[in-house]
Amino acid sequence: MTPEPKTCRSCGRTIEWRKKWERSWDDVVYCSAGCRSRRVSSVDRDLEQSIMSLLASRASGATICPSEAARAVGDDDWRDLMEPARRAARRLVNAGDVVITQRGSVVDPSTAKGPIRIRRA
Ligand SMILES: [Zn+2]
Repeated sequence: MTPEPKTCRSCGRTIEWRKKWERSWDDVVYCSAGCRSRRVSSVDRDLEQSIMSLLASRASGATICPSEAARAVGDDDWRDLMEPARRAARRLVNAGDVVITQRGSVVDPSTAKGPIRIRRA
């Protein structure tokens, strides 16, 4: 029986079970070597906090763009934080705090391509 997928602690994407993890699946928490070395930095935590506080200041069904969190945390270099902001949003989805939407519909954060919005769960 194939174990249930889990989510990457760093990027928040789904990790599908693979044969190579047969003996170590319980220890797998990152989807890739890149995510293992990246882990979750203090800036990443700041982005999570920023997303939650931006949402808390809006109406319950309102959405924000990841760029708003990136701008709030990053000042002039906020563009470098766009992908980290999306990663933060995916971690928050896994925590049950938010959902990610595209054109008003909730989407799978692992596979969503293109612009996303973030809404409270
Ligand atoms: Zn990952």
